[in-house]
Amino acid sequence: MTSTDRYLDLVNSGVTQKIAKQLGLPRPARLRRAADRRPGAPLVDGPVLVLGDGPDADALAQLLSGTSPDRKGWDLDVRRHAAEGTRFAAVVLALSEVQHPGDLAAPLLALGPVLKTLAPGGRVVSVSRPARPDHAPALAAARQGVDGTVRSVAKELRAGSTANGVVVADDVPVTAPGVLGALRFLLSARSAYVDGQLLAVDSAAGSLPADWDRPLDGRVAVVTGAARGIGAAIAETLARDGATVVAVDVPAAGEALAAVANRVHGTALQLDVTAEDAGARLLEHALTRHGRLDVVVHNAGITRDKLLANMTPDRWEAVLAVNIAAQLRINEALLTSGDLTDAPRIVALASTSGIAGNRGQSNYAASKGGVIGMVQATAPLLAPFGGTANAVAPGFIETDMTARMPTLTRQVARRLSSLQQGGLPVDVAEAVAFLASPPAGGVVGQVLRVCGQNMVGR
Ligand code: NAD
Repeated sequence: MTSTDRYLDLVNSGVTQKIAKQLGLPRPARLRRAADRRPGAPLVDGPVLVLGDGPDADALAQLLSGTSPDRKGWDLDVRRHAAEGTRFAAVVLALSEVQHPGDLAAPLLALGPVLKTLAPGGRVVSVSRPARPDHAPALAAARQGVDGTVRSVAKELRAGSTANGVVVADDVPVTAPGVLGALRFLLSARSAYVDGQLLAVDSAAGSLPADWDRPLDGRVAVVTGAARGIGAAIAETLARDGATVVAVDVPAAGEALAAVANRVHGTALQLDVTAEDAGARLLEHALTRHGRLDVVVHNAGITRDKLLANMTPDRWEAVLAVNIAAQLRINEALLTSGDLTDAPRIVALASTSGIAGNRGQSNYAASKGGVIGMVQATAPLLAPFGGTANAVAPGFIETDMTARMPTLTRQVARRLSSLQQGGLPVDVAEAVAFLASPPAGGVVGQVLRVCGQNMVGR
């Protein structure tokens, strides 16, 4: 997949690279993406430093290195101390046992010098516990401090490196499937455009896949809006991970839809998701053609931007109908069908506009904020079946949707993130695939931003 960001190409080649450096211009790096790597490539390209003390740090180090008592692990080259001259590919900050803000000093100050030589596309991932109001103030301060410091480190990193965190509920071991799944995702090239995010793992639910490269083997997934853009990338990524995909889109997109379905060896279903019986038709197609339905990705979405002062009812209603009302109606049909009982997964596309707001998008932001509320309230309904509902909130992604933006607005939007560039559809797809995967069973009702740590809004 090629980027349409010509500035990124310029600052990564020849003489223009030097000029950009001399002028102090933003120099977005080419990101380390899974799609660009050879099959079977290692999780990270070099040694991994595990910083922190205590049983959790030891357990994580053993797991990463494959030296745990059950010998199950990832066979990475793990070090517990930084040695001068070692170029680390990743650093895991084991901070789950901090009790007082003072406990953050040793691991963070040890991280500092390592960052100077972190490999391009490097990873910093913290593992910590959530702060709660009923904690002793010092404990809550230490834990919440992790949030601020990780987000700051993310803003300091360059060369396509990222910093993210996994926040593990107190009663969940750091070796639970959800933690391992999240850690693996955040260390890997699959999380190229996820930056400055802290992902909560709230339960020990979920299971480890037999093959980490094909975690969705045997699962059947429906992807709406799959004829192009992010939806097409989601269909391809879920299929790469082993899923059988039902690609859904409006009849007008039938040709492109058929091409995607053929490419992923799945089936196509021409369907307007706003149809009254959309849920029943999705289910019927999945069951008759593939025998089951496990994953539903609500990706179909539209924009009809206007300042609220000029908003018309048809613009407002069209956006709300596709982006949230259809998802609610489809979920209702699926949940009452009694057919989604084997650890089902719902993943819905929100947007950073639904979190931070965006001028001219009051209708779109209402729908995307709505998606966040919807997954939070839907997750408990799926929990009895070991299921989850989560949202992915993309920032600026290079698609037909954003290609229609005015040139200057588009350029500014690209640079206003820690990674100084827009994401690609596949970056969003990777996050969806992670949330759809069996290890992510402990990630419930979350919003995972795929925005390169966009600096607009909160
Ligand atoms: P896109 O316009 O390129 O593709 C959307 C697809 O949805 C199209 O194939 C379209 O035909 C289909 N669709 C629209 N209405 C439908 C309906 N009623 N029934 C079935 N299919 C329908 O959009 P995209 O950029 O790929 O965005 C995909 C999702 O990601 C959307 O939900 C969007 O809001 C969200 N998103 C995108 C960005 C971005 O930067 N591109 C940012 C944040 C969120």
